Amino acid sequence: MRLSQLGEFGFIERIRQAVSPAEGIVLGIGDDCAATTLASGELQLTTTDLLIEDIHFRRPWSDMKLLGRKSVAVNVSDIAAMGGAPRHLYLALGIPEEMTVEELDNFMAGFLEAAGEYGAALAGGDTCRSPGPLIISVTAEGAVPERELVRRAGAREGDVIYVSGTLGDSALALHLLSAGETPDSFLCRRHHDPAARTQLGRALASSGIPSSMIDLSDGLVADLGHILSASEAGARVEEEALPLSDSFRRALEKDSELITLALSGGEDYELLFTVPSGRETALASLGQSLSLPLTRVGTVTAAAEGLLVMDRRGRPYRPGKTGFNHFSPGV
Ligand code: ADP
Ligand code: MG
Repeated sequence: MRLSQLGEFGFIERIRQAVSPAEGIVLGIGDDCAATTLASGELQLTTTDLLIEDIHFRRPWSDMKLLGRKSVAVNVSDIAAMGGAPRHLYLALGIPEEMTVEELDNFMAGFLEAAGEYGAALAGGDTCRSPGPLIISVTAEGAVPERELVRRAGAREGDVIYVSGTLGDSALALHLLSAGETPDSFLCRRHHDPAARTQLGRALASSGIPSSMIDLSDGLVADLGHILSASEAGARVEEEALPLSDSFRRALEKDSELITLALSGGEDYELLFTVPSGRETALASLGQSLSLPLTRVGTVTAAAEGLLVMDRRGRPYRPGKTGFNHFSPGV
């Protein structure tokens, strides 16, 4: 079915009917604004992300349902990075004329499925025709107890740097797709259907263990760089210590240069955080209770040292490529 047969309001009504009522939403889809409540002693976290066709995704490589899931994950990942729990989502769509209602239904099915998994409800949005690419803008609101907020600022010299999960899988999948190859199903999932670490983010924040935290959207080097500038600190990272999946290791055996994807590749949506060395034992027991590896990848140093990476032979170097930057020269 063409979207013109349904119209903007028919489409919005279709979304409204697919959304169930949720706690904290006094008014959801259907009025000029959503009205939501916030418990006392909690801070509201708000974040927005844009996903634009041919910049963030390619429609021919994307399954619409997975694209819906990913639109949610990349957004709630930011809430996780500050220790919050996602609550409300707002979805603004710029829709190219040739997209069918079936494609949009698949997108919405994925979006609402993922929202449910993260405990977030769709509370509103906007719908518009796009003369060109598909444009997806998602805003998420989350909540965090005031004293549990974890920021990028807070890393101190001597803290230990940890990362969850494995690094570089999403970037490796993209690298293979761009070369016309087919990534294995694990790598495909890491790229097209990433999981935001919302449970880990909440568990870390309520434990009070991390001194700083960020989610890995632009790559370890770039995102650690954000922690270091906010914290006025330097860091030393060990290539040898980077957590790599079996699929990544197999590719690395054939091409050792691919290690740059684990260091600088984006879209892992893992959490990167720093921990005072006296809290590492507490972190280890927290890690055991979650079925997600937490790996020590380096240490925080003085600001003057900047960011140094030790290669696999123990030789230090300064990483050049600092992840994806939309406005960097040559992009
Ligand atoms: P207005 O013109 O006052 O901005 P709209 O017609 O854009 O109102 O939206 C009507 C209602 O539908 C609002 O509650 C809005 O949040 C919701 N809405 C519109 N588009 C979407 C969407 N893509 N997803 C979820 N809710 C939407
Ligand atoms: Mg509107």
